[in-house]
Amino acid sequence: MTATVLGVDIGGTKVALGRVNRDGRILGEVHSYDHGVRHEDELLAVLRARIGRMLGRSKNGDAQPVKAIGVACAGTVNQGAGVVVQSPNLPLVDTKLRAFVENEFGLPTTLENDVNAALWAERKLGAARGVEHALMLTLGTGLGGALLLDGRLYRGAQGAAGEVGHIIVDQYGESCRCGLRGCLEAYVAAPAFERIGFRTVGLFERGAFTGELIGRLAVEGSAAAKQALDEIGSWLGVGISNLTNILNPEVVIVGGGLSQLGDLLLEPARKTVREYALRPGRDLVRIVQAELGPAAGVVGAALLVWDAGASGLV
Ligand SMILES: [Zn+2]
Repeated sequence: MTATVLGVDIGGTKVALGRVNRDGRILGEVHSYDHGVRHEDELLAVLRARIGRMLGRSKNGDAQPVKAIGVACAGTVNQGAGVVVQSPNLPLVDTKLRAFVENEFGLPTTLENDVNAALWAERKLGAARGVEHALMLTLGTGLGGALLLDGRLYRGAQGAAGEVGHIIVDQYGESCRCGLRGCLEAYVAAPAFERIGFRTVGLFERGAFTGELIGRLAVEGSAAAKQALDEIGSWLGVGISNLTNILNPEVVIVGGGLSQLGDLLLEPARKTVREYALRPGRDLVRIVQAELGPAAGVVGAALLVWDAGASGLV
């Protein structure tokens, strides 16, 4: 009998679930739902219902029963304590999420930050295969980060490491949603596409400027759109240069929705890293697009359970 682990990925707007085997293969499909929650209780109710439904599907003589649950969640996660400390896009503060899931379903459960989970999946199956030192940056509404050092996820003393979005690149610069000024996130995530796209390209109202629009204009030959992407990509390169000097990674993986821009964004970042990072780190580091797509969180959350042996299956 082959067992499976249920991977659960809780993002700012969606929750995704899928059953994953030891090799990281998804059995069936990933089920993804918009949760739209405003309060902690609502999110817990969504999890109770959705996880319950997935477990219900796997009961009754299933040849591949779910033996454990791996949860990945956006925000600062104290993995050891099983607590979501805070989350910029979720109504969770010091939420004992691991205990909640364990008590509800009576299965061994782990809790991990969502970008850490995605990086672990990339390490096993994607862009960081065979690599011991890797960084992952997720570009979307905000800028998330995860660190793989010496082959292990690095979480810091409280699980709060990897907040690359809030590296200060200009003390008096643009406002960040964290309340400070000049964070890297304010120059490379969605609000930067609005601001820099509007300033550089014009033509549309400010709110219309998404990565998708600017990317399309650039592909269609707009020099102004190309210039906007060069500027944003260059800021990304500034952040990666700082990280490269500190951590000397072999690869930096860029994921999240905005990573779909590919080389339009990554090529100016590479150019900046070649100019600003120090030798020998700048000569080694590769800056690449994530390979696994939106299911990486589900797969990584489950693989972390398999690899931790929390399920008692390994
Ligand atoms: Zn910030």
